[in-house]
Amino acid sequence: MARFPGTGEIGGDADALLARLGIPADRLKGARAAVTPLTGETIARITEMDAPAVQDAIGRAHAAFLQWRMVPAPRRGELVRLFGEELRAAKSDLAALVTLEAGKITSEGLGEVQEMIDICDFATGLSRQLHGLTIATERPDHRMMETWHPMGVVGVISAFNFPVAVWAWNAALALVCGNSVVWKPSEKTPLTALAVDAIFTRAAARFGGVPEGLSTLVLGGRAAGEALVDDARVPVVSATGSTAMGRHVGPRVAQRFGRSILELGGNNAAIVCPSADLDLTLRAVAFAAMGTAGQRCTTLRRLMVHESIYDALLPRLKSAYASVSVGDPRAEGTLVGPLIDAGAFEAMQVALEAARAAGGIVTGGERLGAEFALDAYYVRPALVEMPAQTDSVAAETFAPILYVLRYSDLADAIRLNNEVPQGLASAIFTTDLREAERFLSAAGSDCGIANVNIGPSGAEIGGAFGGEKETGGGREAGSDSWKAYMRRATNTINYGSSLPLAQGVTFDVG
Ligand code: NAD
Repeated sequence: MARFPGTGEIGGDADALLARLGIPADRLKGARAAVTPLTGETIARITEMDAPAVQDAIGRAHAAFLQWRMVPAPRRGELVRLFGEELRAAKSDLAALVTLEAGKITSEGLGEVQEMIDICDFATGLSRQLHGLTIATERPDHRMMETWHPMGVVGVISAFNFPVAVWAWNAALALVCGNSVVWKPSEKTPLTALAVDAIFTRAAARFGGVPEGLSTLVLGGRAAGEALVDDARVPVVSATGSTAMGRHVGPRVAQRFGRSILELGGNNAAIVCPSADLDLTLRAVAFAAMGTAGQRCTTLRRLMVHESIYDALLPRLKSAYASVSVGDPRAEGTLVGPLIDAGAFEAMQVALEAARAAGGIVTGGERLGAEFALDAYYVRPALVEMPAQTDSVAAETFAPILYVLRYSDLADAIRLNNEVPQGLASAIFTTDLREAERFLSAAGSDCGIANVNIGPSGAEIGGAFGGEKETGGGREAGSDSWKAYMRRATNTINYGSSLPLAQGVTFDVG
């Protein structure tokens, strides 16, 4: 039996959590309400910053960078290691706040904080591996090498649905690379950002001698983000959020020749082939499509099922959708928590209406628990059998809707996979080696993440996360993503007494 929280039930829990996480009391007052999606009620108040205050923070971050860049990289890694330790100590409280503020179920809140810890471990090791190449030179008695240097202030703009991990993916790398960081979190999740800031402050105090302004938090909406985007003292802007946001941020940063790392929308698909292990597929699809109430950039939104197994898979999927437990994300057994707000619910209903109008058969999608919490939006995830990939299927609706399509030929399924503008993550379920390899080949999935027998979500820190197309082309976290936070210098050293010029050039002044 699902449980829904009632209005007035959360306030005490929130106050105790905010105090345990060490958020200074003076940061918890102001004109702006911080709201929980569990009930829709205000759980704290905060003060947002205007553009001059953001510019001031950037000035302090720039001054901090000038000192921090000269600290040896492994020593910078030590600060990030200490931050990872503080995160371990605060893990359950921070995860509980993620649940309260973003609506994630308890295990997903814990998983998000674990990702922060993982990137700290990764970045600590990386701080001893910021390698450049030594390159064979054509000149006698010369040596040529490349050196990686920090960029300066890294601006981080983050989305509500990963309120703490996205900043950590960026900040852990940026800091070991020698940069300072200014963070503008989503206006929907200021409290988790304040908590992370307090945790970082504890790590900095243990480290000792961290320049003031090395990691700064600026709370606010779009205007605060724009102040970061337009400031020439911010050479790198890493922005995670909707494609609409990326369309503003990308060109504005480019106009001043800044560098942007954009992580934008996703409209992710999976193909289920005739040889797929259906038990495994069912579990993977259910988690990828319904987890986080469909509010992950990597949420599975489209499923292409081969006609030979469609009638075997669909009834099982429908019964998983009908029985999934929706409700209070803190309650044991809940798998789907609330949508972030009324706007998300309305966008979901508009998309379902468009699907019906295009001949889709909708199961689920209705609002639940409204009688308990009038300002909260819980929904049963929707499964929509579609006759074709229509415009609304090809758009990202940030809610739990899974569109199911039939296919007969793998080439058609791969074409459908690629035929949306977003293309972030993708998967194929098959035990046929040829099908799997074809999906991963240059002629297969065009996504930044292409998986076999595992859903499209749940990226690992060690890999580089992101995609091409409307996802913005940015890469965060593992692999060689660190290079986006540094600049490369090529150095040539002459240890001889002659001066060979460029190929074929003579220039005799003596
Ligand atoms: P959003 O675009 O509404 O907001 C994201 C952030 O951008 C917020 O901090 C917001 O204040 C800021 N912002 C908005 N307009 C801006 C502007 N013009 N200039 C500067 N800053 C601006 O996104 P959201 O609703 O918080 O998050 C959901 C979206 O994020 C989905 O589309 C999802 O796919 C995407 N997302 C992508 C990834 C990824 O890694 N690819 C990860 C998480 C979320």
